[in-house]
Amino acid sequence: MTHPIFDPDAWGLTPKQAELTAKARALAEANFAPRAAQYDRDATFPTENYSDLAESGLLGICIPEAEGGLGADLKTYMLTAAEIGRFCGSTALTFNMHVSSCLWTGDLLDQLELDDSVRDELHTQRKLHYRRILKDGAIYAQPFSEGGAAAAGFKAFGTTALKVDGGWRINGKKIFASLSGHANFYGALCTALMSPDDEHSRRNTMYIAVPADADGVKVVGDWDPLGMRGTVSRTLLFEDVFVPDEAQLMPHGVYPDAARHWPHMFMTLTPSYMGIAQACVDFTVAYLRGEVPGMPPVKRRMYPTKQLAVAQMQVMLEQTKALWFQAVSEARPDPSKDSLMRAWAAQHTVMENANELAQLAIRTCGGQAMLKSLPLERLYRDSRCGSLMLPWTAELCLDMLGKGTLYEPGENDDD
Ligand SMILES: Cc1cc2nc3c(=O)[nH]c(=O)nc-3n(C[C@H](O)[C@H](O)[C@H](O)COP(=O)(O)OP(=O)(O)OC[C@H]3O[C@@H](n4cnc5c(N)ncnc54)[C@H](O)[C@@H]3O)c2cc1C
Repeated sequence: MTHPIFDPDAWGLTPKQAELTAKARALAEANFAPRAAQYDRDATFPTENYSDLAESGLLGICIPEAEGGLGADLKTYMLTAAEIGRFCGSTALTFNMHVSSCLWTGDLLDQLELDDSVRDELHTQRKLHYRRILKDGAIYAQPFSEGGAAAAGFKAFGTTALKVDGGWRINGKKIFASLSGHANFYGALCTALMSPDDEHSRRNTMYIAVPADADGVKVVGDWDPLGMRGTVSRTLLFEDVFVPDEAQLMPHGVYPDAARHWPHMFMTLTPSYMGIAQACVDFTVAYLRGEVPGMPPVKRRMYPTKQLAVAQMQVMLEQTKALWFQAVSEARPDPSKDSLMRAWAAQHTVMENANELAQLAIRTCGGQAMLKSLPLERLYRDSRCGSLMLPWTAELCLDMLGKGTLYEPGENDDD
């Protein structure tokens, strides 16, 4: 078995972090890695991996212990998911969509101040979702993106939830809905309207679980992308879908506050790519040592050029790990400006360096290493997708970092 990405002693992991990361690594290395090529080739959803995740208890990783789950906080989840990403990027990315529904409603909201009545409502609501996950192995997706400025946080969502007797009537379109056609529930962000003429406002963003089998839910369009093919991120249509009141994942009005107080939540898309970064180095080392299964045992490690190249990769990996680990360790409600800027820097670093490491791995290992029979070319394609994930794309991270570095809150150049 491979070494942990973050050695528990060296990085000071808690016993729970050490246990869950080891569990995820063992499962992903033994079961997910051998299946990854086929899911990628066929662009199909890793259903068998999800059966394993349910059986191992990891589907409930962020469900609080009091509710029967494994009770992981954000950092523990991130470290665990990185070990999955190392062996199957698509499984780790879709796992993030599923786990987010529990992380938002569990540890993150448990750390925020809420009125007693709101907290009671949250606890009643979340029990329903947690029970479905733990008892029935239900999978939750997280379709936010719509192709406009809403997923970047600049505009109200175009998908609407209109209040009707006993529930909400949902209409709208979500693009890149990972797990589409495979999730049991779509945890959608939409704009709540008390009447059809209500103004669309980001303050009224609502987080609600739409059952995949409800009337009016449709999955449309092809899925044949460059990378992360096993995520099956097709387009989702909600056409007059009725959803009962108890389907809300958070009490009305809580999501906008939660997102404002908990910016590190948007880093949860990074573990897949932290894992891919490690996988690129793992592969290169094995290849240069002549130890890749299925390949002739030809050693290439004695060439100084290869030693230099692998050293360059190792430096980049350690830099990436260190910054990511530090940013993830600082995750808390209302982080300081310095901490938030580090989170953007870490997000940018992981997403860009995963792809940089993949291309260095291909250059270093050479032509035989990029054949479809080996994982490297998949790592290269999957790693390219990280920078595109809203709301913290690589571009938007630079945008926010540039402004954050040069301006203090409230400053402008008008005077
Ligand atoms: C494999 C994969 C899986 C995905 N899974 C999901 C999922 O499960 N759920 C989900 O909600 N989304 C998902 N997404 C979508 C993803 O988060 C983005 O929403 C999507 O990639 C944006 O694509 P776009 O072409 O619409 O980008 P655009 O909105 O056209 O943006 C293009 C780029 O312009 C920049 N940009 C965007 N808005 C602004 C702005 N206002 N100001 C300045 N710059 C801006 C950003 O850097 C962005 O990358 C997934 C994407 C991929 C590739």
